[in-house]
This record gives sequence, structure tokens and C-alpha cells, in this order.
Amino acid sequence: MAAEIQPQPQDRKPCLVSKIEAFQDVVSTAVIIPKEDGVISVSEDRTIRVWLKRDSGQYWPSVYHTMPSSCTCMSFNPETRRLSCGMDTGTVCEFVLSEDYNKMTPANTYTAHQGRVTVVLFVLEMEWLLSTGQDKSFTWHCSESGQQLGMHRTAAWVTGLQFDVETRHAFVGDQSGQVTILKLEQDSCSLVTTFKGHTGNVTALCWDPVQRVLFSGSSDHSIIMWDIGGRKGTAIELQGHNDKVQGLCYASHTRQLISCSSDGGIVIWNMDVARQETPEWLDSDSCQKCEQPFFWNFKQMWDSKKIGLRQHHCRKCGQAVCGKCSSKRSTIPLMGFEFEVRVCDSCHESITDEDRAPTATFHDSKHSIVYMHYEPTTGCLLTSGTDKVIKLWDMTPVVS
Ligand SMILES: [Zn+2]
Ligand SMILES: [Zn+2]
Repeated sequence: MAAEIQPQPQDRKPCLVSKIEAFQDVVSTAVIIPKEDGVISVSEDRTIRVWLKRDSGQYWPSVYHTMPSSCTCMSFNPETRRLSCGMDTGTVCEFVLSEDYNKMTPANTYTAHQGRVTVVLFVLEMEWLLSTGQDKSFTWHCSESGQQLGMHRTAAWVTGLQFDVETRHAFVGDQSGQVTILKLEQDSCSLVTTFKGHTGNVTALCWDPVQRVLFSGSSDHSIIMWDIGGRKGTAIELQGHNDKVQGLCYASHTRQLISCSSDGGIVIWNMDVARQETPEWLDSDSCQKCEQPFFWNFKQMWDSKKIGLRQHHCRKCGQAVCGKCSSKRSTIPLMGFEFEVRVCDSCHESITDEDRAPTATFHDSKHSIVYMHYEPTTGCLLTSGTDKVIKLWDMTPVVS
């Protein structure tokens, strides 16, 4: 009998290839220039710099521009080489880079916000410049005329922004932990819905326009995958970080989600597996296995004269169970639990070794990540850290 051939998950390990240092302060955003060995960085140290890889293998600045205040965020469009930089003062400054990336020419300036610009996003197809600020507003400007087209008040400071060109939906993640979905028109917008799933701030958003899936990362260490295109409204949790999630990138050609956290962790999730939603937690006065009452159930405690027990929940079936009936722990990778969680004894028996096969790999970037960017054409990943260093990683698959 022929041996069964198991499809090998692609083993992609971030391999450190370069470091860019020389910053006086943290690099708030940096992007890899596709089809060019280059990086654009904007920093709290007020500089906008373009770095090109020289024959020595080192990155040297070809553009070094100092702004009047800190650069807080940036959006770069490779087709037009347009760079939109959000400032601490509330303005967004636009530049155009020359074809050889040796020169940067100022274009528009937008007085977009009253306080620090938190996210900026240029949408070429619409000629729109979307931005959010600490003044709790979301604005969009026409990038041709420079005119403000519309504005929407947000519940809290916005920390993540994504846009779907086809349907003109904006996904706005904020510090209250919710994601607001707005439908944008030329000069107005309407609220479609809000997603509430995180217990901490939304720190990163990533939209995959092909699968029509939105990923949100949070300071609560979790990632939620909102399956918008699936029309079932499923929300799948991904638990694989021990600290605040700081960045999310989806590599559509390999169907992998790359996430990073402030403890330096990089997790590569295989999204080519059918994942399941986590169950709703059931409420019960007594353990749903052994029927022992929980400690707050005074009436039943009195009637049966038993000492109450603490209520726990099995992460697999959602049942309220006592500690004795849920003494074991297990990973449940297909439910997004890459770390061991509480499961009831019967669920523990039902989870096979095959079920426990991890669907993610874990790596250490060795710096506290504040920003991450992935360039699919080169398979290169960029991380920027609180150590004021940019690290470049080769993510090309290792054939095992
Ligand atoms: Zn029990
Ligand atoms: Zn269970």
C-alpha cells in the first residue's frame, strides 16, 4: 500500500536579513517599496526617510527630510509613489517620490484634524485620502482638489482603518474595542453596523478583499476573524499571543495571517484550515456535568447542604462546569486556541492528537514591535520596534 501523502504546511520562518538603525526615536510606520530594495520610514523623530539597499548590502538614506513635528502615521501608494504622512499637529502632508526614489517633492497639505493624526489611508481608485485623529473624527478628503468631503464622529480614538474599494465600506477600529463599519458616499456616510468582540482596544485591522474577511487585533492579546463574505456572520477567535497585538498582515497567495505583538512575538497562522467558532458560554446554577451547585446558588446550597463550587467554562462545548469536571487542559487549534485552555473531561477525551496539531508557528523578533508591514511580491516582512530599530525578515517558504 502506498504511503499516504500528507499535505505539508508551508514552513515559513522569518529570517532576519537586515537592520536599519540610526533613528533618534521610534519609527511609527515603515513600508517596504515593492520591486525595489527600499524602505520608507516616518518617525517620531520628525524625519521622513527613504532607504535604498546599496551594493554593500546596507540600507542608506536616499531621502532625508525633517518635518516641523513628529510623524505619526503614513500611507504609501507604489503606483503613484504618493506618500501621505500624518502629523502630530493634525495635518496630513503629501509628497511624491521620484522614480529612482532619490527625490521627494511636496504635494498637498490637508488640515485634517484638531489633534494627532492616528491613521492615514490613501485610496487611489477613489482619489480619497482617509484619516482619523485624536479629535475622535474620521474624515475623507478629495486628493485631487484637497477639499474635505465628509466627516464622521467616532466613539473613541481610532487606531485601525481599512477600506474596501469595491463596496466603499470603511472599517474603523477604535480604543473602545469596537469596529464600526461605515458606507462612504462622495460627501456623506452611513453607519452599517458595529462589531463588538474585544475586551481591549483595537490595535490593528487587516482586510482581505478576496476572501472578504476582516481581521482585528487587540490589546486583549486576541485576534478576531470576522467572516463578512461568508454571509454567516461568523467570528472566529485566534489566541496565540501573550501580549498586545500590534500588527496584522494577510498573505493571500499562501493564505497565511501574520500577526505580531508588543512582546516581540510573530505568529504565522495557517488560514487554509476550516476553523470553528468558539461556543457561547452557557449559564447554569450548577455544574452541567456532575450537577453540583456553584457557590452563589444559595438556595440550592441550602436545600442540598452542599458546599458551592466555582463556575468554569469548557472552551470547546461552552458548558458551565466545576473544577473537578474540567481538571484537564488542551489546545484547540481549530477553534483558535493555540495555548492550552480549560476543557471539560468529556471534551478532553474527544480531542484527538490530530486535532491538537498546531495551525500556527511562533517566532521571536527580539524587539517590542510597534508596527509591521509585509510585502507579498518579495516575501519580505518589516518590523519596527520600541528599540528605534527596523528589522527586515525574509519570509520565503522553507521547503521541508
Ligand atoms: Zn462537576
Ligand atoms: Zn466540554
